[in-house]
Amino acid sequence: MSLLRFKWPALFALVPVVAVLPMPDFWIFQLNYIGLYALTCLGLVLLTGVAGLTSFGQAAFVGIGAYTTAWLTLNLDISPWLTLFVGLALTGISALVVALITLRMSGHYLPLATIAWGLSLYYLMGNLDALGKYDGLLGLKSLSIGSFDIGQGRPFFVLTWLLLIASAMGFDRLLDSRVGRVIRSLKTGTQMAEAMGINTFRYKVITFVMAALLASVAGWLMAHFQRTVNPSAFGLKMGIEYLFMAVVGGVGHIWGAVVGAGLIKLLDDQLQVLLPKLIGTSGSYEVIVFGIALVMVLKYLPDGLWSLVARWVPRRDREVNWSAAAHLSERSKPARGELVLEVQDIRKQFGGLVAVNDIRFQIKAGQIVGLIGPNGAGKSTTFNLITGVLSLTSGVVRFRGETISGLPSREIARRGMARTFQHVKMIPDMTVLENVALGAYSRGHQGVLAGMLGTNAREEQQLFKEAQRQLERIGIGHLMHELAGNLAMGPQRLMEIARALCADPALLLLDEPAAGLRHKEKQGLADVLRQLRDEGVSILLVEHDMDLVMQVCDHLVVMEFGTLLTEGTPEEIQQSPVVRAAYLGTEH
Ligand code: ADP
Ligand code: MG
Repeated sequence: MSLLRFKWPALFALVPVVAVLPMPDFWIFQLNYIGLYALTCLGLVLLTGVAGLTSFGQAAFVGIGAYTTAWLTLNLDISPWLTLFVGLALTGISALVVALITLRMSGHYLPLATIAWGLSLYYLMGNLDALGKYDGLLGLKSLSIGSFDIGQGRPFFVLTWLLLIASAMGFDRLLDSRVGRVIRSLKTGTQMAEAMGINTFRYKVITFVMAALLASVAGWLMAHFQRTVNPSAFGLKMGIEYLFMAVVGGVGHIWGAVVGAGLIKLLDDQLQVLLPKLIGTSGSYEVIVFGIALVMVLKYLPDGLWSLVARWVPRRDREVNWSAAAHLSERSKPARGELVLEVQDIRKQFGGLVAVNDIRFQIKAGQIVGLIGPNGAGKSTTFNLITGVLSLTSGVVRFRGETISGLPSREIARRGMARTFQHVKMIPDMTVLENVALGAYSRGHQGVLAGMLGTNAREEQQLFKEAQRQLERIGIGHLMHELAGNLAMGPQRLMEIARALCADPALLLLDEPAAGLRHKEKQGLADVLRQLRDEGVSILLVEHDMDLVMQVCDHLVVMEFGTLLTEGTPEEIQQSPVVRAAYLGTEH
């Protein structure tokens, strides 16, 4: 993917060249089908492979595009160049409705819901008189430009493949943008992205609709290619087959869509001829062969066939050329001594367990407050209550004078609170730089279209410059082009801190940042924390390394079994007999 990215013009130019090659018309005919299928599969790559949302219902959206143009051109004699947009609008609306209803479902419910959707649309198409019931609609015209007939052959090939390559280019660019990084993060869960101020549901919906629109374009093309539409091409079986193509080709890669569509189309044809000869009777035996092949691919080549090719395509480091980019704007920080966080009697019950029992404390601007206590004391739960990751059983949290309890974590994050997680949350197959840039999401504005068209370059440079700056500040600038998943535990934690800093927080919450760090890295971390405090950032620190805690904290809050044991300066806490007892387990 990375090598090919830089040859888009060549790829576009290849299409007319292939079209004039002296090859049999039958091959062009096959390539046309492959292009049509690949368009739909491309949407599935984005939806299922990248965003992790499995859909068996993609064929139904192909159907909406196809039936819309068929009915409108046949009955109202509207130009197909207009019906394309009507089809897109209808598909967009249906996809939006389906997405809003189903995308909140978790686990296996989404795939099941897409099956239900695929089935119901199939029966709708098959039972409406106006749509010709199961016979469908016949006698469509081929596409034409003026008096030039695009037909079913070479001109159609040029149109379809140019559209396919343009879509691939758009998606490829999109995935490499502010929005794309969010879409790539969806697969690994939404908690981290939400804590960076990102509305993940919105991006799931957007991804779903984009994939459906691409299917709709394929349907529009297919209707005029076959010059007839009938429900069987848009039913559940076809929905499964599209998913199958994407998975076999490589559902995580843009080119997997083309490889999968090509392979399955060709295999399908061969098997339909070959299998009856081998077995002696005719029947849909190819389905069985496909089933076996799918299991084999999933077992031995889970990233699809494209991953075999991708191995030979070198990965290219991002060019470091954003040094001239302007700084992102920064939020105004509270004045030193101003009250930043007020935690009032917050409580969390998990069933019968009171994990956090009416805890109260405050943080003032320019303070580093340590939250300490034995394992299971409720420190992480307190973090989750403050940042909105968990809902409060009772109590109030105020941030910079505003009550934030009850708000979703992304809203709290947008107000200037950033955090890390006790168990590192990252996107392993994105680079360190890209992971960290996610933290600066709320400071950017460029959306889907800008990402696709590449008009977001200036902002991208700003985001990456900020990400690099924070990585360097935390001491791991040299790792920025590594895949995050390849990092050792210590650097992973540092990466999370850099990501949180990218959000330009007024309050930074760090959950055990020094776990897994070497001595030198800990010293570096202590320096950075002090420097941040001097810049006016307040910090809430959960940490087991008492040296670090005593070194950097201005104030300590001690928890035990969910309750507030005591609070005070590091000196006071070190002297406290109750704290000693809690840590050493002696009676008090
Ligand atoms: P700490 O971070 O201080 O080690 P935690 O906040 O992680 O402690 O946990 C406090 C208590 O709450 C523990 O007894 C833990 O088992 C329990 N707990 C934490 N999260 C959950 C949860 N999601 N469901 C049920 N119990 C939980
Ligand atoms: Mg914890």
